[in-house]
Amino acid sequence: MNIVRVALDLPLPRLFDYLAPDSDESDIGRRVTVPFGKASRTGVIIEVATASEHPDAKLKAVTEILRDMPALPAEWLALCEFCARYYQTPLGEVTSFALPPMLRRGKLPRMKRPKETDVLPASAPASGPLLPQLMAAQQAAVEAIAGIAGFHTLLLHGVTGSGKTEVYLRAIDAVLARGGQALMLVPEIALTPQLEGRVAARFPGAHIVCANSGMADAARARGFIEALTGRAQIVLGTRLAVFMPLPRLQLIIVDEEHDASFKQQEGLRYSARDVAVWRAHQLNIPIVLGSATPSLETFHHASTGRYQMLELPERAVAEAMPVVRIIDTRREKLQEGLCAALLAGLQQRLDRGEQSLVFLNRRGYAPVLACPPCGWISRCQRCAANLVLHLADQRLRCHHCGFEARVPRACPDCGNVDLLPFGRGTQRLETMLVERFPEARVLRIDRDSASTPKKWQALLATIHAGEADILVGTQMLAKGHDFPLLTLVGAVGADAALFAADFRAPERLFAQLMQVGGRSGRADLPGEVLIQTEYPDHPLYQALVEHDYVRFARTQLDERRIAGFPPFSFQAMLRAEARTMEQSLAFLAAARSAAEALADGVTLYDPVPMRLQRLMTLERGQLLVESLSRPALQAFLTKWMEQLYALKMSGGLRWHLDVDPLEF
Ligand code: ADP
Ligand code: ZN
Ligand code: ZN
Repeated sequence: MNIVRVALDLPLPRLFDYLAPDSDESDIGRRVTVPFGKASRTGVIIEVATASEHPDAKLKAVTEILRDMPALPAEWLALCEFCARYYQTPLGEVTSFALPPMLRRGKLPRMKRPKETDVLPASAPASGPLLPQLMAAQQAAVEAIAGIAGFHTLLLHGVTGSGKTEVYLRAIDAVLARGGQALMLVPEIALTPQLEGRVAARFPGAHIVCANSGMADAARARGFIEALTGRAQIVLGTRLAVFMPLPRLQLIIVDEEHDASFKQQEGLRYSARDVAVWRAHQLNIPIVLGSATPSLETFHHASTGRYQMLELPERAVAEAMPVVRIIDTRREKLQEGLCAALLAGLQQRLDRGEQSLVFLNRRGYAPVLACPPCGWISRCQRCAANLVLHLADQRLRCHHCGFEARVPRACPDCGNVDLLPFGRGTQRLETMLVERFPEARVLRIDRDSASTPKKWQALLATIHAGEADILVGTQMLAKGHDFPLLTLVGAVGADAALFAADFRAPERLFAQLMQVGGRSGRADLPGEVLIQTEYPDHPLYQALVEHDYVRFARTQLDERRIAGFPPFSFQAMLRAEARTMEQSLAFLAAARSAAEALADGVTLYDPVPMRLQRLMTLERGQLLVESLSRPALQAFLTKWMEQLYALKMSGGLRWHLDVDPLEF
């Protein structure tokens, strides 16, 4: 009697056996619909066996093995198995996540019938006078990548505009010429259309597939099948694209590899960059990680020789890097948060018809609305957080849970009508700049004004058309766009990150400031960056002035070494949430006791409330575990998980484990 062992999307770390008389080995990797309880579910066949641990009489039969598309290859299953092991997530949850939603539901998209000509598209290596002559460093990088046979991780380090993308394109070209497939991961959905255009222009004959969560179901499923059947030559996508099945994959590129969006923060908490490196290892192919400000983990590997460092020290187009100036605001009376130098700079750019950007990483009008006489402040009822004032549409909003309410006309506690906004967000800056520079066209770019990809594209078009003079924006603006008219960037409110509780905050701040700075002074207009700070001597700012990422990275790594933080240790975070903090902490305490006997070479910290203690009315706690050895941590986690699944939980409690957590 044949049995199939099926991975189902359930929070249980096991496979489920079903009778399937007509199945054989070739069904491994196929989707299958099965009865489960009273419902029907779709899963993936992981094994075909002749016997089950369960008596045959108790087994149900599969409803249908879906043979309408090629089986998922062994490699793909192995990739999912790795993620299940490494991130301590049931295999069925991983396979389900890795499939596009439509395929996950057991459906198939309608496929375009392939034309004769594009069954195996002739690769069209771009050549001739259209291509820029590579600079020496680019040439060296291209040759280094081309010279690699087998698994090797390369770090392509170069500032914005240094020609990294050009290097990727050449490397992809070489892969296509050999008949291979290339996978390129980028951080944000917003970046894909732009890059897609550039890739499509470079490889007009190639079959390019995009993959991101913003795509329509059918399009995503179609792309997946085109990748699986080998028709796709280039896959370009966000983190989830790391799970695209690619039978002839020969090269992986991860652009902006330091970007936090490669790490998923819910469900399967994977890092697409790390999974990509594992995948390259599995397939024995090269992987290129590119960044102007590599993550310290990656930079550390490059410094110790585990990764090969390729440097692009110069910009391809502009002659010089922007001049970075640190403005000491301690002795200055700011006007609505802006210093005189920045105001003067804005005026000057206006007079010259150039663009400026004021960078403030906080959206909304003000972080909180307050009633000074009685002490009331706008708090979220569901979270331990303030409600942010959004004057643009007269709302108070929680940026954590999405709760919103109308701005009250008077204090709900004492009736006072003079409520005061405290602090400053992008909307407030925008208002102030409009008043101050009435002749200027001020454009705000943040997640509120660019709430859909369409709005975002429209804003970008406005900037590119030169129809905005002063941009006010969050980090959204920092990524991957060149604005040829932009010559001044002012950074406001950056200091907060210097002393944040999260040890990665300075690394993020440095990357953001380098990136926003990199937006300025392209083409033939030199750029200037002004950073307002009360800590002008801080090494982070000094390194920015020198454009010296390496110096910054070394000092940070020294601090991390001393503190025993990653990359010098490996971490996992157990988080629990429940109606009361007692429940959450009690669960974590029980988890900790269970861990004590297993924790060989692993440090267990104490359960503590999370920094954002209450979210959506749930009280949240966390327990950090750490080890100097990744294998030791992994071995511990595997044993620990078994115990965690067996722990008694009070009603309503939920928990999850986050391996290599980025958020604290
Ligand atoms: P990055 O990805 O590092 O930001 P890009 O590859 O996008 O850099 O290059 C920045 C700009 O310089 C692009 O407009 C690109 O076409 C151009 N460029 C890249 N390499 C060269 C080169 N060798 N000669 C001339 N222009 C180049
Ligand atoms: Zn909230
Ligand atoms: Zn009041």
